[in-house]
Amino acid sequence: PEYEAPKEGRRIDVTYDDLGGLGSTIDQVREMVELPLRHPELFQRLGVDPPKGVLLYGPPGTGKTRLARAVANESEAHFLQIAGPEIIGSQYGESEKRLREIFEEADQNAPSIIFIDEIDSIAPKRDEVRGEMERRLVATLLTLMDGIKPRQNTVVIAATNRPDAVDEALRRPGRFDREIVVGVPDQAGRREILGIHTRGMPLGDDVDLDELARSAYGFVGADIAALSREAAIEALRRMLPEIDLEENTIPNEVLEKLDVQRSDFVAALKRVQPSALREIMIQA
Ligand code: ATP
Repeated sequence: PEYEAPKEGRRIDVTYDDLGGLGSTIDQVREMVELPLRHPELFQRLGVDPPKGVLLYGPPGTGKTRLARAVANESEAHFLQIAGPEIIGSQYGESEKRLREIFEEADQNAPSIIFIDEIDSIAPKRDEVRGEMERRLVATLLTLMDGIKPRQNTVVIAATNRPDAVDEALRRPGRFDREIVVGVPDQAGRREILGIHTRGMPLGDDVDLDELARSAYGFVGADIAALSREAAIEALRRMLPEIDLEENTIPNEVLEKLDVQRSDFVAALKRVQPSALREIMIQA
């Protein structure tokens, strides 16, 4: 197949198939988020309010953001993202205004999903150091969440690496009262994620993804994505001497020789460290 460059501004839609090792997590998200967004009538019939807020928690790079995007895409919901640290950085009053605007946009485009990444930075626990800004933001967020009507078809998904650091007021019924763990993948999960990130790669016959999944102990999704990219770059380095870069386009017979081999992954494994290990090394 001919290589086609992504068109400018094209929406790259993530689906559940782009998430590896999260089988039962996806089931939970589908039940708690997708089902009420797609079929609010089921909840109306039963006389219960659909969930308004879901807290995703798990270590960095395990796919929380990707999961939120996938559920929005698969539910055909309008997706709005708020980056915690980004919003607290803005000027006095600006952050609250921005939050209100986002909730309004969600309402106008329902069904909607509002995704708040790193919620702990906006809403840290009261006993943690918290400035005036955070206090006001939490108050605004609480008001906005309480204002979501059951029929409004909006779900707020928040993500954090530190669930214990999130203000309890946000975790009361009717707010973020559902929790879903997005865990570190096991070997089978790593194998699935490797499959996803090497999907578009020409792999050499000697590449054994099962073996690689075993070697990538402690790797989370983001690490595996980095590993796959690094292996591709290794392949390029290995092939570069054989490529005449002066040519306007590299001929197909040369391109066809370019593949990612076992040795490229072995080299990449030496460069890419699992992110959890990096953290330990920084602390040490
Ligand atoms: P953070 O807490 O650091 O924001 P996160 O949990 O939100 O991390 P993502 O931003 O979703 O993680 O993941 C980063 C990248 O890592 C994704 O774009 C994807 O390439 C890869 N990735 C992470 N988890 C998975 C997974 N389960 N399956 C496939 N790819 C994954």
